[in-house]
Amino acid sequence: MFGLIGHLTSLANAKQVADKLGYAEYAESDLEFWCMAPPQVVDEIVVTSITGQKIYGQYVESCFLPEMLAGGRVKAACRKVLNAMALAQRRGLNITALGGFSSIIFENFRLETLKRVRNVDLEIRRFTTGNTHTAYIICQQLQAAAQRYAMDLAAATVAVVGATGDIGSAICQWLVNCTSVAKLLLIARERRRLEELQATLKKGEISSLEEALPRADFIVWVASMSQGVTLDPQVLPDPCVIIDGGYPKNIASRLQRKGLYVIDGGMVEHALDIEWNIMQFLNVANPARHLFACFAEAMLLEFEGLHTNFSWGRNLITLEKLELIGQLSRKHGFRPLLPAA
Ligand code: NDP
Repeated sequence: MFGLIGHLTSLANAKQVADKLGYAEYAESDLEFWCMAPPQVVDEIVVTSITGQKIYGQYVESCFLPEMLAGGRVKAACRKVLNAMALAQRRGLNITALGGFSSIIFENFRLETLKRVRNVDLEIRRFTTGNTHTAYIICQQLQAAAQRYAMDLAAATVAVVGATGDIGSAICQWLVNCTSVAKLLLIARERRRLEELQATLKKGEISSLEEALPRADFIVWVASMSQGVTLDPQVLPDPCVIIDGGYPKNIASRLQRKGLYVIDGGMVEHALDIEWNIMQFLNVANPARHLFACFAEAMLLEFEGLHTNFSWGRNLITLEKLELIGQLSRKHGFRPLLPAA
């Protein structure tokens, strides 16, 4: 059995979902209450592959909210992630994806050192960040968008915002080694890590966001931001594709302008309906078939009996792993999500 650890995008969103799911106390309570709330298994899942194989899973709501990071409640945020992992392990889930901010919190606050949660010793092999599949899907979305909008990737400038991150650095590797782009712009806040990435890639120009936006034909946005940014669409070239891979979405509002295409990054579509309820609360067009690529990674590992932390740590995703997860994704009937033509 596989697991998915997820969280909602804001307190307001969480209260709405709790109300719909019948958790009245959660629906009526403030951030303080959510900081104390234990994780809950709120959904049972059945997924059928196009090969005919069926797998079963559970969705664990960690009760983490992005406001906990913005409001300096780091201890509560860390407790949420560790408690959700302990619950997944106690339930006997063989491979569980750490969705959204869960893996970022685990890494950034070095939770590796706190692996004993009450009477549970966390077995890390039971968990995956899902970042390899997410990076693979975003690369595929980039190629598919270029085709869809008749844009030549080989002549294009591609900006990666969050380039030094786990997903961003894997995408940069792929851009340099597996396709051809005219210019690669690397964006993040910490200069030293950008220089290290540039040295590893032997390609790419370090840029500020302000300098990059007017130049970028494609913007891959994979920064770990707990709140979205607002962009002025008028500064972007025409045409311009933005692949927004963040969770919560990094681009705060729907940008509208002729020649500007915004794609929900790191999202996949399954060929068959998935039996679950949770995705109806996560703002996707087709909740029976649309899901986050990181969640799909746990499903792929379960289908294959690969009960191992396939994606773990930071900046360790290899081109071979991207290729392998891509093969499994296609084999079991997942494909990158693009807006309707
Ligand atoms: P990491 O923490 O590994 O990397 C985050 C990157 O963003 C770093 O390069 C960081 O560099 C940069 N960054 C953070 N804040 C800013 C900022 N304000 N401006 C510019 N750059 C910034 O994160 P991941 O790679 O694991 O995840 C990236 C995003 O993808 C997250 O939003 C995550 O929730 C989402 N995600 C989506 C999934 C899906 O299935 N669709 C699955 C997993 C993750 P620096 O700190 O130097 O600025």
